[in-house]
Order: sequence, then structure tokens, then C-alpha cells
Amino acid sequence: MAPKGIDDRGLLHLVSSLVCTLTDDRITTINPEGVRMLAAPSVEDVLNMPFTDLIAEDYRFLLEVGWELLAEEDVVPLKLRRFNGEIFDAELRVRPLDGAHHRVFLEVRDISKYVRSAQALREREERLQNILHSVAEGIVTVAEDGRIETSNNAAEQMFKAPPRWLIGRNVSSLIKSLDGVDDQHPSPATIFAEPGAVKEAWGVRSDNSVFALEFVCNALRHGRQKLYTAILRDISERKENEERIRKLAHHDSLTGLPNRNLLHDRMAQALARVRRHGGRLAILFVDLDKFKPINDKYGHKVGDYVLMEVAKRLLESVRNSDTVARLGGDEFAVILEEVARPSEAAKVAAKIVSYLAAPIEAMDNVCNIGASVGVALYPDDGADLDDVVKAADLAMYRVKNAGRNGYRMYSELSDPLGEIADA
Ligand code: GH3
Ligand code: MG
Repeated sequence: MAPKGIDDRGLLHLVSSLVCTLTDDRITTINPEGVRMLAAPSVEDVLNMPFTDLIAEDYRFLLEVGWELLAEEDVVPLKLRRFNGEIFDAELRVRPLDGAHHRVFLEVRDISKYVRSAQALREREERLQNILHSVAEGIVTVAEDGRIETSNNAAEQMFKAPPRWLIGRNVSSLIKSLDGVDDQHPSPATIFAEPGAVKEAWGVRSDNSVFALEFVCNALRHGRQKLYTAILRDISERKENEERIRKLAHHDSLTGLPNRNLLHDRMAQALARVRRHGGRLAILFVDLDKFKPINDKYGHKVGDYVLMEVAKRLLESVRNSDTVARLGGDEFAVILEEVARPSEAAKVAAKIVSYLAAPIEAMDNVCNIGASVGVALYPDDGADLDDVVKAADLAMYRVKNAGRNGYRMYSELSDPLGEIADA
């Protein structure tokens, strides 16, 4: 029913769309809003006009199917032309009125404003996407259950993943804890904990290889949903550099063995273990015999080769858990852990002497060296590391003085103090 004071015709004044009727395709009635929407000077200018004239040329083909078929559509999107020439986006609804007189009822909504704002939104989205895809950091958004919802190019490249490979995957499956056992994937809750904190982990690529990864997570609300963003950085190069520097500081560059610094750390750790769990540890000092003549005769390069071969043979004569270090020059040291009896250390010393007595073929030269080995044990031969190290050194000098190529246990030296004087 019409509101009070307005007849049925007056109702058309209230409608905010264009409504009109056509007879034989010509406009026979139109509401004032329709005249305004078309920017027509007056209703008379519109009446009797073929409706086709209002349709932008590119869309006129739509009418070829006939009004009956168009009426079956809920809405028909098309473009219309205003009297001032402006083209605008519209939605057309068609209702047939009277088949005999080809009368139809049309309703047109001007949707240009929505189309424009949707377009602006799309452009804004596109700009944001372009920015996201141009940054060097990997950026992903993740749902609360850990599923990745969006990812940028850098993230895909980092994981060696094809486009969209990351989408839908759980962030847990892409990360392994640094300190954990090999296969430990932290839960999404652990990954998202401490928003803003920079964390390190292993990233797991699509080919299952791993790389050092740094990431920062932040929570953001998306409507009712809680979303997380994660910024990811591949730090494998930095880690490799750090590892190289760490190695340089702790390893001998010629043989790759631990150097004196690392040996001291390892000795301190081994001592702590023995003090905690009991047992013994042995320290062996090894100085090559007649090494200098190799350098003099064949040159420094051959000498270097021999030192590398010595390192190899020393490693072959101990267990993996033991430590072989190069102290400098032709001096090496070995830490044996979990030594039950002094005779076990003696056995290893004998093995070293025999391994190093075998000729070394270095760059077509056969080099004959030997080794003098001094052995001391904790706690048998000293109350602390310094004492044990001194004892092993003394025992080694005793071998040198006695003619080289052999080993001595400190505990078996007949006159250790006399040896200090000798040394
Ligand atoms: P000894 O039997 O008494 O132990 O005498 P040696 O000939 O083995 O000589 P010594 O232990 O007194 O000196 C070790 C030599 O090792 C001195 C030095 O010329 C040489 N040397 C030290 N560092 C290197 C190195 O990095 N490469 C090479 N090729 N030679 C080295
Ligand atoms: Mg020597």
C-alpha cells in the first residue's frame, strides 16, 4: 500500500533506481529518478526513445536475444549512456508485462560507484601485492592452526617452492628447531609465541633440504579471526660465515684438527665429565721424530703433506669420541676419555707409534718419520689439568732423550723430577 497522501504513481518518485516501461522497445513511462540518472533535460526527451539508444554500443548485442530471455536472468550487467555522453555501469532487471504489445518493465540500477570502488580496492590490493612480492624478506600470513594463507615470492624462493606451494601447508612442517632432535617440528603455538622476538630455526625446503632461517611473528586480528604474520630471512650465508670464523678460531688450517684453544676447552669438558662420573682420562703428547729433515730435503709442501697424513693416522688410531689436536709445528695432543686402566692408554700410544713408523708416501717421496709419545692420566698423574699436561710433556721428552720412536707412561718414569732438569 502506498504511504498516506501518495498514490501508486507517486510511489515511483520514491524509487532510487530507474524504472520504465517499454512498448515495442520504446520508452513509454519513466520515473523522475530515471530522468535524473540519464541526465536528460526533461522527461519528454526520454519518452518515445528506443531503449537501445541508451545502451553503450558494445552492449547492444545483449538485446538481440529478446526481452523474454533477458527476463529469465536475475540481473543483466551492462553499460548505459547518459544524455551528456557519459557511460556508466548498470544492472538491468527485465519483467515482461504484456506479450501481445511487447510491453516490458525495466529497472536499472546505477552501480558505477560500486564498480569504481571495487576497482580502486583491486588496484590497492594489487599495489600491496606488488610491494609484498618485491621485498627481499619472505612474508607469509598464517591462520591460528598454522595453515599458511598467503605467501610472497621471496618466501617461495626461500623454500625452493613453486608458486602457491606454501598455501595451505602447515607452518610447523616447514620449520625444525635448531636445538631439537633432527625431526622436531615446533607446534604453531610455539612458533607464534613471543610476538616480535627474532628466532632462529631450520627451514625445510620443498626438496626436504634444510637451511638456516630467522623469523619474526606477529599476531593480527582479521575480523573475528586471529591471523599471524611471519617475516622470514634465509641466514644460511651468515651462518656459514660464522661457522667458518668459529672454525678458524678453533681449528688448525692445515690439518683441520682442533687447535690449542679448542683442545683446552675439550680437556676442561672431559675433566668435568670424569669428576662427575668417575673414571680416568689420558693425555698423550706426540712430537714427530726427525720431521725437520723432511722439510729440508723435500721442501715445505711435502712437509705439509706429511703433517696432514699424520693427522689422518692419529684420527685412525683413536675412537670418534676422543680428541686429536695439533698444538703447532710437529706437535700433536690426544685426549682419551673413559679410560678404565692405564694399560688402555698405553695400548693407544703403542698404536700411534706403530702407525707413524710406517713410511708416508708424499708427492712421490717416501718419508720416514716416527713419533715420541708421552702419556699421563687424570687423576693418577696430577690433581688438575695443568699437572697432567706437564706430566705428559715430560714423558714425551723422556722418549726423545732415550732415542725417540716410542712411548712412555709418566707413572713409569724412574726419576720424573730429574727429567724436568733434562727438559
Ligand atoms: P725432533 O726429532 O727432535 O722432534 O726434531 P724434528 O726434526 O722433528 O724437529 P722439531 O720437532 O724440533 O721441529 C719441528 C719442525 O717442524 C720445525 C719446523 O721447520 C717444522 N714445521 C713447523 N710447522 C710446520 C708447518 O706448518 N709445515 C711444515 N712443512 N713444517 C713445519
Ligand atoms: Mg719433532
